[in-house]
Amino acid sequence: MTVKGVTSRVSCAACKYQRRKCTSQCVLAPYFPANQPKKFQNAHRLFGVRNIVRILEQLDDEDQKADAMKSIIFESDMREKFPVYGCVECIFYLRQQLQIALQELQYVNAQLHIYRQQQQHSSESSVNNGRLSMLPFFSSTEAESISQGITYSDFDVSN
Ligand SMILES: [Zn+2]
Repeated sequence: MTVKGVTSRVSCAACKYQRRKCTSQCVLAPYFPANQPKKFQNAHRLFGVRNIVRILEQLDDEDQKADAMKSIIFESDMREKFPVYGCVECIFYLRQQLQIALQELQYVNAQLHIYRQQQQHSSESSVNNGRLSMLPFFSSTEAESISQGITYSDFDVSN
């Protein structure tokens, strides 16, 4: 339906929250769809709608705008989930995961080195007398306690 050349549309979450008419020029509409009001409320609480609009106005490039909004929305959602540390909680978790992965890689490389030496030795003496134990570097309970009960789904912003 068109009235005076303006297509009527469903107000975005930002306009709905501010009780104003959402026009085709609304800069927030692409990032805050009407069916995700929580997303806008989180971003508004942390940054304030004026600051979000100001950030968008400073950027010319659509890709940069999209990246900025992705960052704003992620930070806001994390702040809602972890009121004290916000994004830092996520950074700590990923850093721990990286540390575990690096230690595991180090262990696997050490094992590989031992196997290579063993193989070299056995081909020289043509006696294959050894099997090294292949214990996992971390048991699942250790890995769980390291991640302190934070699950990856905590950082999933798709919902
Ligand atoms: Zn709008």
